Amino acid sequence: MNIHEHQAKEILKEFEAPVSNGVVILSTDDIKKEITKLKGKEFVLKAQIHAGGRGKAGGVKLINNINELETEAKKMMGKTLVTHQTGPEGKEVKRLYIEEASEISKEYYLSCLIDRETSKIAFISSTEGGMDIEKVASENPEKIITNKIELKDQGPDDKEIESIISTFDFNDQQKKVAYKLIKSLYKILVEKDASLIEINPLILTKNNKIICLDAKMNFDDNAIFRRPEILKLRDLNEEDPAEIEASKHDLAYIKLNGSIGCMVNGAGLAMATMDIIKLYGEEPANFLDVGGGASKDKVSAAFKLILSDKNVKGILINIFGGIMRCDVLAQGVVDAAKETNLSVPLVVRLAGTNFKEGKEILDKSNLKILSASDLNDAAKKIVEAIK
Ligand code: GDP
Ligand code: MG
Repeated sequence: MNIHEHQAKEILKEFEAPVSNGVVILSTDDIKKEITKLKGKEFVLKAQIHAGGRGKAGGVKLINNINELETEAKKMMGKTLVTHQTGPEGKEVKRLYIEEASEISKEYYLSCLIDRETSKIAFISSTEGGMDIEKVASENPEKIITNKIELKDQGPDDKEIESIISTFDFNDQQKKVAYKLIKSLYKILVEKDASLIEINPLILTKNNKIICLDAKMNFDDNAIFRRPEILKLRDLNEEDPAEIEASKHDLAYIKLNGSIGCMVNGAGLAMATMDIIKLYGEEPANFLDVGGGASKDKVSAAFKLILSDKNVKGILINIFGGIMRCDVLAQGVVDAAKETNLSVPLVVRLAGTNFKEGKEILDKSNLKILSASDLNDAAKKIVEAIK
């Protein structure tokens, strides 16, 4: 789960990391009242969307006249921002954050994440802050320093912290702040079950202060149940409606841009199914893993979800019944197909537990279903059928 920059900064503040003062604007009517809480003469107006790269897309504006804040905020609110992380359709700005501006002397990159491969916590630091870290990684990989540290109660020790921040070339006073910041990030990652905390840029101001100027946090969905205070920060406006619906039914669904809807059990088989659709020249409309032991209702919900995507021109169901029973799957599909007056071609490949019973349900349903003998055959049939 992702949260907004202003929420991430609230958490940083709670863990005593340095952030600027700011106010959240949910409605432009509140601006006059809210900005009285800010000091200084310069402000930064920041669009709050779940995507980076806002600066280049007009989503971050420096404003040096308080009277202009309201006009600029009104312009930004409701705008659709297209950044390299939003996809071509962009994201509509529905809330803003106004911060007291900082005078930047240097921009750094600092992040902290779970490294699954080594079961350690990785800190990534770079002097090339403020820009796409992916670009730095491809063009100047030597400028990215990764330190992987063991998970332990007391957090990173001095030697580890030293190694994380060495590239920043801080003086003793700055180091003190950085030490505390590294410890705070580690603590947030562990205590809040974050999977990623990214500060880009971390800055040194002209008057020698270290500040987290941008903040992105990502949380482990599997641990959210024990972090109700994090779940409260979820902003459904930022999520795809179909994915929200999927999460209600505990379905692993990710919308994609192709035209063939897929319903598969098992993530690996789902990936293979998507690959083979591409092999035959089409694109999958989604990733969908109905999981093992899904109920008839869950299958039905999954089927409706696929059909809610207007780009879907055909559906491929590929089930290898292990814990999942083919008859349960078939009944769920038949129910949903009747309820939705299915009008697009449907190819079904069933194998495994209760395969015969499943096939019988499909045969008796009077639905126009193309059955397939194997995955290859299934992919070929659905691609032909939508032509
Ligand atoms: P992103 O583009 O979505 O990553 O948004 P950021 O919050 O990282 O802001 C983008 C850029 O705007 C930063 O790299 C800074 O260069 C600039 N910026 C943001 N806040 C301030 C500020 O308080 N003062 C100044 N001078 N620049 C800022
Ligand atoms: Mg940034």
